[in-house]
Amino acid sequence: MTTKIEKVITKALITHELNKEEIIMLLEAEGKDKELLFQEADKLRKNNFGDEVHLRGIIEFSNYCSRECFYCGLRCQNHVVNRNRMTIDEIYEAAKEARNQGYMTIVLQSGEDSWYKVDILAELINKMKDNLDLAITMSVGEHSKNFYKILREAGADRYLLKHETSDKELFEKLRPGTTLQGRLNRLKDLRELGYQIGGGFMVGLPGQSIETLADDILLTKELDVEMAGIGPFIPHPETPLRGYPVGSVSMVLKVIAITRLLLPLTHLPATTALANLSPEGRFKALSCGANVIMPDLTPMIYKTNYEIYPKSSELLNFDNSFASWEKELLQHGRRVSKDYGHTPKPGFFAKL
Ligand code: SAM
Ligand code: SF4
Repeated sequence: MTTKIEKVITKALITHELNKEEIIMLLEAEGKDKELLFQEADKLRKNNFGDEVHLRGIIEFSNYCSRECFYCGLRCQNHVVNRNRMTIDEIYEAAKEARNQGYMTIVLQSGEDSWYKVDILAELINKMKDNLDLAITMSVGEHSKNFYKILREAGADRYLLKHETSDKELFEKLRPGTTLQGRLNRLKDLRELGYQIGGGFMVGLPGQSIETLADDILLTKELDVEMAGIGPFIPHPETPLRGYPVGSVSMVLKVIAITRLLLPLTHLPATTALANLSPEGRFKALSCGANVIMPDLTPMIYKTNYEIYPKSSELLNFDNSFASWEKELLQHGRRVSKDYGHTPKPGFFAKL
């Protein structure tokens, strides 16, 4: 006899569509049902991506931020954190070192820091594209369409801007001075400019319900992003959300698995935040739908200061060299991809 959960999973596998009620049913799955969800998401990942894992090296080049997001340790009201900016030459050298090791994608991430003028960033992207043969993802927050256009014309391939939470009121409470609609408008701008878009959200934010999570998954589907970063909320002691519980690893894994069922061709990272909570977390995510890892390649002197959430010493000291990841992933039966890891969505580039 087919159970209700089996029926929902079968529907998702055939149509890649689920309604909110069905998503909630999967989010509440436990025991054998949860294992079935993970297995089916894993099979779908294997059918579409094989055993390859894409490595996207991340360089966190500035921890200055003018925003005051309640969840983030980089918020401007945190006066305890040591602020630092990498010079343009340091960023370039870190990217060059990554490329020499084998990395084919670099993610440049920072707080919203107007110290780096758009033309300077564009010049850096241009130089990296000309000399390093890399795919470039930018993750520098909310800006004007013209800002995004200049970076795109300089050669940026992708932009990572998570919607964070689909609950409008919660969004506005947690990100003072910004709106969910404003964030979505920027995602639309990025889409129109031909970026491959990285979206995503946090799991376990205070005030988030299971219904919100279902809406987060549905919004990710509607945005049809090329990548979705889904990780646990981890409280930072120097933020208003100190003292709230961390997001549940099990719930993050279920959200990743459901997202895989609905977005079969979207890149899904096994997030660093997950690894921060449980050393095996990243590998668990790789076995329930995820196919990307984002190793932190920020030079050690700056890495400790980029404290979105408190980083475990294990994570800070993890050997993120390309060769080490090749070895590590082989032990988990997976291979490192040697290509750029662009979206496999048919027709994506033809439309540009
Ligand atoms: N400033 C840019 C932005 O906000 O899009 C990029 C950098 S921001 C630090 C990158 C991501 O960190 C955010 O999209 C958010 O999802 C995540 N983040 C921030 N604080 C977090 C926390 N306490 N726990 C988990 N993830 C967090
Ligand atoms: Fe700044 Fe991004 Fe952190 Fe918000 S999440 S405070 S925009 S770095």
